[in-house]
Amino acid sequence: MVILKTIAEVRERLYPLKKSGARMGWVPTMGALHEGHLSLLQTCKADNEISIASIFVNPTQFGPGEDFEKYPRQLENDKALLSNLSIDYLFCPNVGEIYPQENRYSIIPNKIETIWEGAIRPGHFQGVCLVIAKFLNILQPDKLYLGQKDLQQTIVIKGLLESLNYPVSLIVCPTKRETDGLALSSRNIYLNPEQRQQAPKIFAWLSYLKEQILNNQNIPTALEKIRIEIQNQEGMELEYLELVDGVGMNPISILNSNQLCYLIIAVKLGKTRLIDNLSVF
Ligand code: AMP
Repeated sequence: MVILKTIAEVRERLYPLKKSGARMGWVPTMGALHEGHLSLLQTCKADNEISIASIFVNPTQFGPGEDFEKYPRQLENDKALLSNLSIDYLFCPNVGEIYPQENRYSIIPNKIETIWEGAIRPGHFQGVCLVIAKFLNILQPDKLYLGQKDLQQTIVIKGLLESLNYPVSLIVCPTKRETDGLALSSRNIYLNPEQRQQAPKIFAWLSYLKEQILNNQNIPTALEKIRIEIQNQEGMELEYLELVDGVGMNPISILNSNQLCYLIIAVKLGKTRLIDNLSVF
Protein backbone atom coordinates (compact mmCIF):
# COMPACT_ATOMS: atom_id res chain seq x y z
CA MET A 1 0.00 0.00 0.00
CA VAL A 2 1.30 3.43 -0.94
CA ILE A 3 0.87 6.13 1.69
CA LEU A 4 0.21 9.65 0.43
CA LYS A 5 0.36 12.55 2.86
CA THR A 6 0.27 15.60 0.62
CA ILE A 7 -1.84 16.88 -2.25
CA ALA A 8 1.33 17.11 -4.36
CA GLU A 9 1.98 13.38 -3.80
CA VAL A 10 -1.60 12.55 -4.82
CA ARG A 11 -1.17 14.55 -8.03
CA GLU A 12 2.13 12.87 -8.80
CA ARG A 13 0.95 9.31 -8.12
CA LEU A 14 -2.78 9.20 -8.90
CA TYR A 15 -3.28 11.62 -11.77
CA PRO A 16 -1.23 9.58 -14.29
CA LEU A 17 -3.35 6.52 -13.37
CA LYS A 18 -6.52 8.54 -13.80
CA LYS A 19 -5.30 9.78 -17.20
CA SER A 20 -4.60 6.23 -18.30
CA GLY A 21 -8.27 5.41 -17.61
CA ALA A 22 -7.97 3.42 -14.36
CA ARG A 23 -11.26 3.38 -12.43
CA MET A 24 -10.82 4.60 -8.88
CA GLY A 25 -12.91 4.04 -5.77
CA TRP A 26 -12.58 6.03 -2.57
CA VAL A 27 -13.64 5.23 1.02
CA PRO A 28 -13.43 8.25 3.35
CA THR A 29 -12.89 7.47 7.04
CA MET A 30 -11.76 9.13 10.23
CA GLY A 31 -9.71 6.05 11.15
CA ALA A 32 -9.96 3.74 14.18
CA LEU A 33 -11.05 1.24 11.56
CA HIS A 34 -13.50 -1.54 12.38
CA GLU A 35 -15.38 -4.20 10.40
CA GLY A 36 -17.89 -1.57 9.20
CA HIS A 37 -15.15 0.41 7.50
CA LEU A 38 -13.53 -2.80 6.24
CA SER A 39 -16.75 -3.93 4.55
CA LEU A 40 -16.84 -0.63 2.59
CA LEU A 41 -13.18 -1.07 1.69
CA GLN A 42 -13.72 -4.65 0.51
CA THR A 43 -16.59 -3.53 -1.73
CA CYS A 44 -14.47 -0.69 -3.08
CA LYS A 45 -11.54 -3.02 -3.71
CA ALA A 46 -13.74 -5.52 -5.57
CA ASP A 47 -15.42 -2.81 -7.73
CA ASN A 48 -12.43 -0.74 -8.85
CA GLU A 49 -9.03 -1.07 -10.44
CA ILE A 50 -7.59 1.33 -7.86
CA SER A 51 -8.81 1.46 -4.26
CA ILE A 52 -8.15 4.51 -2.12
CA ALA A 53 -8.81 4.86 1.61
CA SER A 54 -8.47 8.13 3.43
CA ILE A 55 -8.01 8.73 7.13
CA PHE A 56 -8.62 12.28 8.28
CA VAL A 57 -10.22 13.40 11.52
CA ASN A 58 -11.89 16.46 10.08
CA PRO A 59 -11.93 19.35 12.58
CA THR A 60 -14.62 21.34 10.75
CA GLN A 61 -17.31 18.71 11.36
CA PHE A 62 -16.82 18.70 15.14
CA GLY A 63 -18.62 21.32 17.21
CA PRO A 64 -17.24 23.04 20.31
CA GLY A 65 -17.29 20.56 23.21
CA GLU A 66 -17.44 17.52 20.88
CA ASP A 67 -14.77 14.83 20.85
CA PHE A 68 -12.34 16.12 18.15
CA GLU A 69 -9.35 16.09 20.53
CA LYS A 70 -10.07 12.71 22.04
CA TYR A 71 -11.42 11.00 18.89
CA PRO A 72 -9.55 7.65 18.71
CA ARG A 73 -6.44 7.83 16.52
CA GLN A 74 -4.79 4.48 15.69
CA LEU A 75 -2.92 5.14 12.48
CA GLU A 76 -0.37 2.32 12.72
CA ASN A 77 -3.04 -0.28 13.44
CA ASP A 78 -5.23 1.13 10.64
CA LYS A 79 -2.35 0.93 8.14
CA ALA A 80 -1.90 -2.76 8.96
CA LEU A 81 -5.64 -3.43 8.45
CA LEU A 82 -5.61 -1.60 5.11
CA SER A 83 -2.50 -3.46 3.94
CA ASN A 84 -4.14 -6.78 4.83
CA LEU A 85 -7.01 -5.88 2.52
CA SER A 86 -4.51 -4.94 -0.23
CA ILE A 87 -5.88 -1.42 -0.48
CA ASP A 88 -3.75 0.37 -3.08
CA TYR A 89 -3.47 3.88 -1.61
CA LEU A 90 -3.96 5.52 1.76
CA PHE A 91 -4.33 9.31 1.81
CA CYS A 92 -3.77 10.55 5.37
CA PRO A 93 -2.95 14.26 5.24
CA ASN A 94 -2.45 16.40 8.31
CA VAL A 95 -4.91 19.17 9.15
CA GLY A 96 -2.66 21.93 7.76
CA GLU A 97 -2.54 20.23 4.35
CA ILE A 98 -6.34 20.35 4.00
CA TYR A 99 -6.95 23.62 5.85
CA PRO A 100 -3.83 25.75 5.25
CA GLN A 101 -5.74 28.87 6.20
CA GLU A 102 -9.00 29.90 7.81
CA ASN A 103 -12.01 28.89 5.70
CA ARG A 104 -13.08 31.57 3.30
CA TYR A 105 -15.91 29.57 1.76
CA SER A 106 -18.69 27.36 3.12
CA ILE A 107 -20.98 24.77 1.59
CA ILE A 108 -24.36 24.95 3.27
CA PRO A 109 -26.70 22.01 2.66
CA ASN A 110 -29.84 24.10 3.30
CA LYS A 111 -32.84 22.46 4.95
CA ILE A 112 -31.35 19.02 5.66
CA GLU A 113 -28.66 20.54 7.87
CA THR A 114 -31.28 21.94 10.25
CA ILE A 115 -32.92 18.62 11.20
CA TRP A 116 -31.95 15.49 13.20
CA GLU A 117 -28.14 15.29 13.39
CA GLY A 118 -27.94 18.79 11.93
CA ALA A 119 -30.15 20.26 14.64
CA ILE A 120 -28.14 18.61 17.41
CA ARG A 121 -24.75 19.27 15.82
CA PRO A 122 -24.97 22.78 14.28
CA GLY A 123 -22.46 23.19 11.45
CA HIS A 124 -21.64 19.46 11.35
CA PHE A 125 -22.88 18.89 7.81
CA GLN A 126 -21.23 22.07 6.55
CA GLY A 127 -17.95 20.59 7.79
CA VAL A 128 -18.75 17.23 6.20
CA CYS A 129 -19.61 18.84 2.85
CA LEU A 130 -16.49 20.98 2.89
CA VAL A 131 -14.13 18.09 3.55
CA ILE A 132 -15.86 15.76 1.07
CA ALA A 133 -15.79 18.47 -1.63
CA LYS A 134 -12.09 19.10 -0.99
CA PHE A 135 -11.17 15.40 -1.02
CA LEU A 136 -13.25 14.78 -4.18
CA ASN A 137 -11.34 17.56 -5.90
CA ILE A 138 -8.01 16.25 -4.64
CA LEU A 139 -8.54 12.51 -5.26
CA GLN A 140 -10.93 12.66 -8.24
CA PRO A 141 -12.40 9.18 -7.70
CA ASP A 142 -15.04 7.63 -9.95
CA LYS A 143 -16.92 6.02 -7.06
CA LEU A 144 -17.49 7.04 -3.46
CA TYR A 145 -18.41 4.48 -0.77
CA LEU A 146 -20.37 5.47 2.33
CA GLY A 147 -22.10 3.48 5.08
CA GLN A 148 -25.85 3.49 5.68
CA LYS A 149 -24.97 3.70 9.39
CA ASP A 150 -24.69 7.47 8.85
CA LEU A 151 -27.92 7.75 6.87
CA GLN A 152 -28.27 11.53 7.00
CA GLN A 153 -24.65 11.92 5.90
CA THR A 154 -25.37 9.76 2.83
CA ILE A 155 -28.39 11.94 1.98
CA VAL A 156 -26.43 15.17 2.47
CA ILE A 157 -23.55 13.91 0.32
CA LYS A 158 -25.90 12.61 -2.39
CA GLY A 159 -27.34 16.14 -2.48
CA LEU A 160 -23.84 17.63 -2.65
CA LEU A 161 -22.84 15.42 -5.60
CA GLU A 162 -26.04 16.26 -7.47
CA SER A 163 -26.09 19.97 -6.65
CA LEU A 164 -22.44 20.59 -7.52
CA ASN A 165 -22.43 18.19 -10.51
CA TYR A 166 -19.65 15.93 -9.32
CA PRO A 167 -19.05 13.13 -11.84
CA VAL A 168 -18.93 10.57 -9.03
CA SER A 169 -21.17 7.57 -8.30
CA LEU A 170 -22.26 7.12 -4.71
CA ILE A 171 -22.49 3.59 -3.32
CA VAL A 172 -24.18 3.19 0.07
CA CYS A 173 -23.13 -0.01 1.89
CA PRO A 174 -25.15 -1.81 4.59
CA THR A 175 -24.50 -1.29 8.30
CA LYS A 176 -22.24 -3.85 9.97
CA ARG A 177 -23.31 -4.90 13.45
CA GLU A 178 -22.01 -6.79 16.43
CA THR A 179 -23.71 -10.17 16.89
CA ASP A 180 -26.00 -8.55 19.50
CA GLY A 181 -27.15 -5.94 16.94
CA LEU A 182 -25.13 -2.92 18.07
CA ALA A 183 -23.97 -1.00 14.98
CA LEU A 184 -20.18 -0.90 14.81
CA SER A 185 -18.80 2.56 15.52
CA SER A 186 -15.41 3.98 16.43
CA ARG A 187 -17.18 5.62 19.39
CA ASN A 188 -18.33 2.29 20.91
CA ILE A 189 -14.99 2.14 22.77
CA TYR A 190 -16.21 5.02 24.95
CA LEU A 191 -18.96 2.79 26.42
CA ASN A 192 -18.39 1.37 29.89
CA PRO A 193 -19.43 -2.29 30.47
CA GLU A 194 -22.96 -1.40 31.68
CA GLN A 195 -23.54 0.98 28.77
CA ARG A 196 -22.21 -1.64 26.36
CA GLN A 197 -24.82 -4.05 27.73
CA GLN A 198 -27.60 -1.50 27.26
CA ALA A 199 -26.54 -0.38 23.78
CA PRO A 200 -27.93 -3.35 21.73
CA LYS A 201 -31.43 -2.30 22.84
CA ILE A 202 -31.20 0.45 20.24
CA PHE A 203 -31.28 -2.02 17.36
CA ALA A 204 -33.82 -4.20 19.18
CA TRP A 205 -36.21 -1.22 19.38
CA LEU A 206 -35.72 -0.41 15.70
CA SER A 207 -36.35 -4.04 14.71
CA TYR A 208 -39.45 -4.24 16.91
CA LEU A 209 -40.81 -0.99 15.44
CA LYS A 210 -40.15 -2.16 11.90
CA GLU A 211 -42.18 -5.29 12.59
CA GLN A 212 -44.99 -3.27 14.17
CA ILE A 213 -45.09 -0.84 11.26
CA LEU A 214 -45.09 -3.61 8.65
CA ASN A 215 -47.94 -5.20 10.59
CA ASN A 216 -49.94 -2.01 10.03
CA GLN A 217 -49.75 -0.73 13.59
CA ASN A 218 -50.46 2.98 13.98
CA ILE A 219 -47.06 4.60 13.38
CA PRO A 220 -47.20 7.60 15.77
CA THR A 221 -48.56 5.35 18.57
CA ALA A 222 -45.88 2.69 18.02
CA LEU A 223 -43.12 5.32 18.02
CA GLU A 224 -44.46 7.02 21.14
CA LYS A 225 -44.59 3.75 23.06
CA ILE A 226 -40.91 3.10 22.40
CA ARG A 227 -39.95 6.73 23.10
CA ILE A 228 -41.50 6.37 26.55
CA GLU A 229 -39.70 3.05 27.09
CA ILE A 230 -36.38 4.71 26.20
CA GLN A 231 -37.04 7.70 28.43
CA ASN A 232 -37.51 5.26 31.32
CA GLN A 233 -34.08 3.68 30.79
CA GLU A 234 -31.53 4.47 33.46
CA GLY A 235 -28.57 6.45 32.07
CA MET A 236 -30.04 6.76 28.59
CA GLU A 237 -31.23 9.99 27.00
CA LEU A 238 -33.33 9.94 23.84
CA GLU A 239 -32.52 12.65 21.31
CA TYR A 240 -34.84 11.50 18.52
CA LEU A 241 -36.72 8.47 17.25
CA GLU A 242 -38.71 8.89 14.05
CA LEU A 243 -39.85 7.27 10.85
CA VAL A 244 -38.69 9.45 7.94
CA ASP A 245 -38.62 9.38 4.17
CA GLY A 246 -35.30 8.74 2.45
CA VAL A 247 -35.19 11.99 0.47
CA GLY A 248 -35.82 14.97 2.73
CA MET A 249 -35.95 12.95 5.99
CA ASN A 250 -39.40 14.29 6.76
CA PRO A 251 -41.48 12.39 9.36
CA ILE A 252 -43.96 9.87 7.98
CA SER A 253 -47.10 8.76 9.75
CA ILE A 254 -48.62 6.62 6.97
CA LEU A 255 -46.67 4.02 4.94
CA ASN A 256 -46.49 4.42 1.21
CA SER A 257 -45.09 1.33 -0.47
CA ASN A 258 -43.52 3.42 -3.26
CA GLN A 259 -41.45 5.39 -0.81
CA LEU A 260 -38.24 4.27 0.89
CA CYS A 261 -38.39 5.09 4.57
CA TYR A 262 -36.21 4.66 7.59
CA LEU A 263 -36.50 4.47 11.34
CA ILE A 264 -33.85 6.81 12.73
CA ILE A 265 -32.63 7.08 16.29
CA ALA A 266 -30.07 8.96 18.37
CA VAL A 267 -29.50 8.32 22.05
CA LYS A 268 -26.92 9.34 24.58
CA LEU A 269 -25.49 6.73 26.89
CA GLY A 270 -23.69 8.87 29.43
CA LYS A 271 -21.63 11.23 27.30
CA THR A 272 -21.53 8.92 24.26
CA ARG A 273 -23.94 9.61 21.41
CA LEU A 274 -25.03 6.60 19.38
CA ILE A 275 -27.00 6.81 16.14
CA ASP A 276 -28.60 4.05 14.14
CA ASN A 277 -31.27 3.52 11.50
CA LEU A 278 -33.21 0.76 9.79
CA SER A 279 -34.95 0.80 6.44
CA VAL A 280 -38.58 -0.24 6.58
CA PHE A 281 -38.83 -1.56 3.02
P1 AMP B 1 -16.22 7.34 10.05
O1 AMP B 1 -14.81 6.88 10.16
O2 AMP B 1 -17.02 7.14 11.29
O3 AMP B 1 -16.32 8.73 9.47
O4 AMP B 1 -16.90 6.39 8.99
C1 AMP B 1 -16.40 6.26 7.69
C2 AMP B 1 -17.41 5.54 6.84
O5 AMP B 1 -17.67 4.25 7.39
C3 AMP B 1 -18.75 6.29 6.77
O6 AMP B 1 -19.25 6.22 5.44
C4 AMP B 1 -19.60 5.50 7.73
O7 AMP B 1 -20.98 5.56 7.43
C5 AMP B 1 -19.07 4.09 7.52
N1 AMP B 1 -19.40 3.25 8.67
C6 AMP B 1 -19.22 3.56 9.98
N2 AMP B 1 -19.71 2.57 10.75
C7 AMP B 1 -20.21 1.64 9.91
C8 AMP B 1 -20.87 0.39 10.08
N3 AMP B 1 -21.11 -0.11 11.30
N4 AMP B 1 -21.24 -0.32 8.98
C9 AMP B 1 -21.02 0.18 7.74
N5 AMP B 1 -20.40 1.35 7.50
C10 AMP B 1 -20.01 2.07 8.56
